[in-house]
Amino acid sequence: MANKWVYLFTEGNATMRNLLGGKGANLAEMTNLGLPVPQGFTITTEACTQYYEDGQKINDEIMGQIMDHINKMEEITGKKFGDKENPLLVSVRSGARASMPGMMDTILNLGLNEEVVEVLAEKSGNPRWAYDCYRRFIQMFSDVVMEVGKKYFEALIDEMKKDKGVKQDVELTAEDLKELANQFKAEYKAKIGEEFPSDPKVQLVEAIKAVFRSWDNPRANVYRRDNDIPYSWGTAVNVQMMAFGNMGDTSGTGVAFTRDPATGEKKLMGEFLMNAQGEDVVAGVRTPQHIDQLKQVMPEVYDEFVDICHKLEDHYRDMQDMEFTIENRKLYMLQTRNGKRTAFAALKIACDLVDEGMIDEAKAVSMIEPRNLDTLLHPTFDPEALKKATPIGKGLAASPGAASGQIVFTAEEAKEWADAGKKVVLVRLETSPEDIEGMKASQGILTVRGGMTSHAAVVARGMGTCCVSGVSEIVMDEENKQFELGGKTFHEGDVISFDGTTGNIYDGAIATREAQIAGEFGRIMSWADKYRRLKVRTNADTPADAKKARELGAEGIGLCRTEHMFFEGERIDAFREMICSDTVEDREKALEKILPVQQGDFEKLYEALEGNPVTIRFLDPPLHEFVPTEEAEIEKLAHTQGKSVAQIKAIIASLHEFNPMMGHRGLRLAVTYPEIAVMQTKAVIRAAINVAKVHPDWNLKPEIMIPLSSDAKELKFVKDIVVKTADEEIARAGSDIKYEVGTMIEIPRACLTADEIAKEAEFFCFGTNDLTQMTFGFSRDDAGKFLNAYYDKKIFENDPFAKLDQVGVGKLMKMAIELGKKARPELHVGICGEHGGDPSSVEFCHKIGLDYVSCSPFRVPIARLAAAQAAIAEKRN
Ligand code: PEP
Ligand code: MG
Repeated sequence: MANKWVYLFTEGNATMRNLLGGKGANLAEMTNLGLPVPQGFTITTEACTQYYEDGQKINDEIMGQIMDHINKMEEITGKKFGDKENPLLVSVRSGARASMPGMMDTILNLGLNEEVVEVLAEKSGNPRWAYDCYRRFIQMFSDVVMEVGKKYFEALIDEMKKDKGVKQDVELTAEDLKELANQFKAEYKAKIGEEFPSDPKVQLVEAIKAVFRSWDNPRANVYRRDNDIPYSWGTAVNVQMMAFGNMGDTSGTGVAFTRDPATGEKKLMGEFLMNAQGEDVVAGVRTPQHIDQLKQVMPEVYDEFVDICHKLEDHYRDMQDMEFTIENRKLYMLQTRNGKRTAFAALKIACDLVDEGMIDEAKAVSMIEPRNLDTLLHPTFDPEALKKATPIGKGLAASPGAASGQIVFTAEEAKEWADAGKKVVLVRLETSPEDIEGMKASQGILTVRGGMTSHAAVVARGMGTCCVSGVSEIVMDEENKQFELGGKTFHEGDVISFDGTTGNIYDGAIATREAQIAGEFGRIMSWADKYRRLKVRTNADTPADAKKARELGAEGIGLCRTEHMFFEGERIDAFREMICSDTVEDREKALEKILPVQQGDFEKLYEALEGNPVTIRFLDPPLHEFVPTEEAEIEKLAHTQGKSVAQIKAIIASLHEFNPMMGHRGLRLAVTYPEIAVMQTKAVIRAAINVAKVHPDWNLKPEIMIPLSSDAKELKFVKDIVVKTADEEIARAGSDIKYEVGTMIEIPRACLTADEIAKEAEFFCFGTNDLTQMTFGFSRDDAGKFLNAYYDKKIFENDPFAKLDQVGVGKLMKMAIELGKKARPELHVGICGEHGGDPSSVEFCHKIGLDYVSCSPFRVPIARLAAAQAAIAEKRN
């Protein structure tokens, strides 16, 4: 039997999301629920994938089924494409499995042409509406299908409004709009060199292809990479009979959320515009009315809508984001989906749904996007500093957080300035999808136009970036890169601050304050902790980081990079003396200076961890990061070493490596200079003995971690030094302190010989930064220079240094665990590369049976949640 590529809304349901996309599956589900949905059909995500497999062509089988469904749709609606009596007009919209707001394209009013529009104008008795539809269609079709670009059309509209002396699009008459439609078509012909297509079927096929193509547009590719959406999913296409919100004052369109997407509060939130079509609300061209006002404008429609909202929320047991249209007082539902929300709102909604008895705790934990927690961990304004500041203006609190930075007016500049290390805030009339990269680079986004569902608001919330929208008091002069607000003119580079939680805007910088886990955040995290099996540790090199991580729930230190303890001040001098010594005596002298400093640091770390495990990794400095480069520093070093500048330079030259990342680092350093391992062992053990005296109940058991081993004999050599030194220290102090010696697994050979290595190691910790580097042979410092080409060419979908390569690197990890545990069943295993804080990598670590993940302090809650989700999903399956 032939494949089924196309489904009527009556043939689908909510479980068919993978095939029909989120929008298509939910349109079908709403149809099944008996809600007023304009009928239509969905072309599957598989058809999209097939389209690409066929070399960007819709094959005959798929085309045949599309045509069949047009016929079926004509039967169902009693309307016909291109018909003079009763023409069928449709919308064509994308809909992927995961919602990607604003990333792909929509075309409305498809099916119009010169003849049809005339019939429509006459028969409806509403020529203004007919020509409004027509000019919109030409505009959208040209932009989306032919990529002519919106700005040409917008310029024509602006010119027309200026000519007619009106401010709003709705003030243009039927005649004006008819004239605009003509101008648009002329523009189309000028740009494309062909007449605007008049056959509705041709229009439809072109539109479907355009939606398929939009799956691969640059902004969709960036969005997917940021949100872990595989390219292979493809998008479905929904073809739906039009419901018209632009028929006059008894028609309108809007979007609404069943709960506040910014705060999570249980109240209907949304916006609508009378006499308007879909994109008007979100495009921010006119400022919409609050949904509550619909109660006055059209009470019976409002009641019906509220009723549907309840029905949908009860049905999906989650906050819904809906689009609707009112055509001549009749309500139509165009979309529903689980709404995007701020992290703050996500926590509140999940807790409220539990309290309302709608979902259980496991479901609540699974509902939160781990990555989004990040936004809650970012600073807010310091309340004291805020009290002293006077707002100079106010907009809509579109996405919470605190932003302070230099003003830029374009997305390109935002990116450039941010790349140059500046903190910027992007101030725009309104944003559009092309601005994504610049929005990402900004501390916050401020827009003059648009409501809570404007592009800026929706996208900023998704990114977790602070946003204040709809600041209509701003008098904007984008061309001259300045604006007026609160009686003052602000220029590019001036500093302002704004608060995405209140909407307030302030002149100048305001101090910010760290976030903390409390309230709903605390509740969800405590639930998460009940479900997870993986322990979560942190990578921390300073007592301050360790303390922060503890507050955020870290259960130990999984990686303390001891070389990082020497970056600052006078410490680096001693470190340089050590590296640039050319005799054991000189080196030991330098190590004598380092020992008490290290010991003091370790004592503070143990104190901060209050008896939880502390893994201290021995020195692993790529030497080039530490040798002096400045003349004055070289002179200083020569002076303390009692050497000439030339001698020091000769030592530095001898330390030069062509490939320092594969050079004299890790345990290789301890093989050549065992005295370094001796000093570090002394520091670790002496510190533990001292702290154990004060806190005997903590049962301190430091974990000494030897980096970069690739061979069992090599590891044994260093381990023996460690054990001998540690045992001597312990015996001398008459202490009974215990310790462990383990190794990082970060070289493929270590994975391949893990059974041998495990005989010398009590624990393994995967250093997946190096393991990724060594497995791919990509330098972790330079891969960024060419990875973009890999994304563009669809060779990679993600950065393997950020998201674990489960296929290759993951296979090595599995092998290492299996071999390691065979040789030493009690071996405990963790990960401390960057991947330890990446949700999908954490899930993988759970699956392959790691004991813990270790990540930077601010990612600890993300890892805790991801670990819980992995455990819950496993149980469910
Ligand atoms: C690693 O390689 O993954 C690791 C944690 O060590 P570093 O990043 O310090 O090389
Ligand atoms: Mg490493």
